[in-house]
Amino acid sequence: MTQRAVIERAVAEQASWMEDLLVALVQAPTVLGAEEPGQALMERAFADCGLEPESIALDAAAIRADPHHSPFSWDVTSKRNVTATWRGTGGEGKSLVLNGHVDVVPPASESLWTSPPFTARRDGDWLYGRGAGDMKAGLVAMTGAVRALRAAGVQLAGDVTLQSVVEEECTGNGTLQCLLSGSGDGAHAAVLTEPHHDHFTLAQVGVLWFHVDVRGVPAHAARASSLGYNALDATQAVLRELRVLEAELNAQRGDHAWYADLEHPINLNPGVLSGGDWTSTVPAEATLSCRLALYPGQEPADLQRRVEAAVERADVGATVRYDGFRCEGSEVARDEPVVLALSDAYKMVHGGAAPELRATTATTDARHFVRRGIPAICFGPWAEDIHGIDERVSMTSMTQVATVLAHFVMDWCGGAQTTPALGAPAHRGGES
Ligand SMILES: [Zn+2]
Repeated sequence: MTQRAVIERAVAEQASWMEDLLVALVQAPTVLGAEEPGQALMERAFADCGLEPESIALDAAAIRADPHHSPFSWDVTSKRNVTATWRGTGGEGKSLVLNGHVDVVPPASESLWTSPPFTARRDGDWLYGRGAGDMKAGLVAMTGAVRALRAAGVQLAGDVTLQSVVEEECTGNGTLQCLLSGSGDGAHAAVLTEPHHDHFTLAQVGVLWFHVDVRGVPAHAARASSLGYNALDATQAVLRELRVLEAELNAQRGDHAWYADLEHPINLNPGVLSGGDWTSTVPAEATLSCRLALYPGQEPADLQRRVEAAVERADVGATVRYDGFRCEGSEVARDEPVVLALSDAYKMVHGGAAPELRATTATTDARHFVRRGIPAICFGPWAEDIHGIDERVSMTSMTQVATVLAHFVMDWCGGAQTTPALGAPAHRGGES
């Protein structure tokens, strides 16, 4: 058998292991603050590859001391990332990080789902559930690739580090903590198995979360026209000014090569509006929570100033607070060796078709690697309706991604086939 055939068969043999892991992960509702059951599953999955899992606890003080952290108001003391490193023999191969996040966003509206969002439902090639695509199938594919290579008795020259992180959807501080703790720092490249299936994502925007607090004057609704000041009404004036800022930012897209051809790369999302406590009382307080993007090369502090100026223009006595994402965008050159090597592996699995190289209008943890000089690419399974209703992922594509990654790891990290390791007692119990 050729090496290619051996690897393809080894990955195919992981199909049911991978599906079982994905089902278990989807059924763990790992929204913000509830990530641990997912991390426990990933810890077991890494151990099940014959690797020794390591926990990297989030350290609030260490995160806040880094200039590239995102602010957060919640407690992170019980949170951890889970990592495992497959140590290479130290020859010619390069090192690699495979990174995925275990946290998911809330289901948006459970009643709109065809089946409960945290019950994994298989229908044909699709597996449904919140987080199935973004990005538990990616976590499974990267782990399945490593498990397959180890089962096939492969030895690598360079190290592969698996990282299952928390807080990608709100701050990115999970991956930041990995790097601060030394996991993956200094690697030659990183692949984040986000659901970008027929393309590699090389550029991404930055994201700013901000919360506009408005103080009203409560009064009986019967006299609202003469007494009181309605805080919820006031947020609408703020939103109008923020939409003007959004239009200005989009008008500048021509200055940013990766985004010049996109119609509307910078999106303002008013995500949460809250306020008031009684239908017949003029609300005393309201908060408008928004997400706004920024171009690579733009400083988050610069966008903060523009947001504050827009809120000021609304002239409703509002204040701006930051909690959550405050991060820059990032870009990787199209001719980076990792882009070419991963493309070669992709072509091998996709009948010679090359992946498109794209920019995304979202952010990912890739920026933390890129900032440290580690080129980072997003590539992963085919998913639909992520952050929406009836999120789903293609099981065929999950196996294809695992196959691409397995070929890529062989090439990038200098893999050689020896004797089957997985299940052989001499190789059990982790790395030495
Ligand atoms: Zn994601």
